[in-house]
Amino acid sequence: MSDVVIVGAGVMGLMTARMLALSGCRVTVLERGEPGREASWAGGGIVSPLYPWRYPAAVTALAQQARQAYPVLVQELLDETGIDAELVACGMLMLDADDARDALAWADAQKELVLRYDSSSLRQRMPWLSSHWHEGLLMPGIAHVRNPRLLQALQASLRRLKVDVITQAEVVSASGTGSTLGSLTTSDGRKFSADHFVVCGGAWSRGLLELLEMASPPSVRPVRGQMLLYRLPPGTLPCMVMADGRYVIQRRDGHVLCGSTLEETGFDKGITDAARESLMASAARLLPALANEQPVAQWAGLRPGSPNGIPFIGRVPEKDNLWVNAGHYRNGLVLAPASACLLTNLLRGEQPSLDPLPYQCL
Ligand SMILES: Cc1cc2nc3c(=O)[nH]c(=O)nc-3n(C[C@H](O)[C@H](O)[C@H](O)COP(=O)(O)OP(=O)(O)OC[C@H]3O[C@@H](n4cnc5c(N)ncnc54)[C@H](O)[C@@H]3O)c2cc1C
Repeated sequence: MSDVVIVGAGVMGLMTARMLALSGCRVTVLERGEPGREASWAGGGIVSPLYPWRYPAAVTALAQQARQAYPVLVQELLDETGIDAELVACGMLMLDADDARDALAWADAQKELVLRYDSSSLRQRMPWLSSHWHEGLLMPGIAHVRNPRLLQALQASLRRLKVDVITQAEVVSASGTGSTLGSLTTSDGRKFSADHFVVCGGAWSRGLLELLEMASPPSVRPVRGQMLLYRLPPGTLPCMVMADGRYVIQRRDGHVLCGSTLEETGFDKGITDAARESLMASAARLLPALANEQPVAQWAGLRPGSPNGIPFIGRVPEKDNLWVNAGHYRNGLVLAPASACLLTNLLRGEQPSLDPLPYQCL
């Protein structure tokens, strides 16, 4: 049995901890603040990349595997913990995408059902939309998950699996000899030794890996995303709707999320009036029922941006026992089950579930 210490209790750290614990490892998670309060909490929870045909094959491979895994995972978590992460397979309607041909070719290759609507069939079948859209592509298989609940369920599952999630434990230094990392030290002076260490530090992963003396840490950078929350009667919005990169999603209890901005503002997690106005305009365009509503909340999160959105999953070249699972950019919630599975396979020396090459840290 290996001892593993994971740094970061976002969706990636929690999901990786669960998979490693299920495979027989003794796992400890170190979290600087509270678990699941950063990007993983802030996200929309769409269980698909937005415009999935625009992503490289490496993202599609993880996404397709993870999408298959989600219904089983959510049911297992409900059975284990009584917490329902509310996976709702309502479909995603993408309006006036200017690359519909690419979408259809991708869907054909992936065996993904896509329904194409012209303006009159949109008006007829979806009278709750405004009438100015010319075309819609509906992917009925796409789901959303209530990410804050998913994070609660994962934490409850980890308690059952006897995984220690230690909060207010910021990793500040490391020690070891040669190519072996020996221990991590947290801001309160505690030392944590293990056989393996996994960095799941989201947008902070690059700094963390520098701290752990990785010579060329992967280029993970913060990309701020702001969201608005509205309240409408449940069932107002039958499917997720997206145009121009903005989307609306309705949860079972009626809450509607509208997201999200893409901002290169470093580690600033502040919210802005400009984003609120811009998102309110998008919300009204996507769902006219929101035009006269005021948002009940606004927040921001920092996505772990990476080149082409391809995450880094694997061992750090200079260290025999230091691993990374980070850089999932806009898709960390959807990709988490497949990324955690791949990392677990690699760390345990098992046959990997996917070709690990595209995700290597070089
Ligand atoms: C507005 C918005 C909308 C999004 N929508 C979606 C969506 O619909 N679908 C989707 O799939 N993805 C979406 N995402 C992206 C997704 O949220 C992220 O890719 C994912 O949450 C990344 O998870 P993570 O665990 O890597 O990072 P995080 O959730 O940020 O977790 C990293 C953790 O590491 C901890 N940490 C950092 N440094 C240290 C340290 N030194 N010591 C200890 N702990 C440390 C942090 O405190 C944090 O808890 C969205 C993101 C945003 C911001």
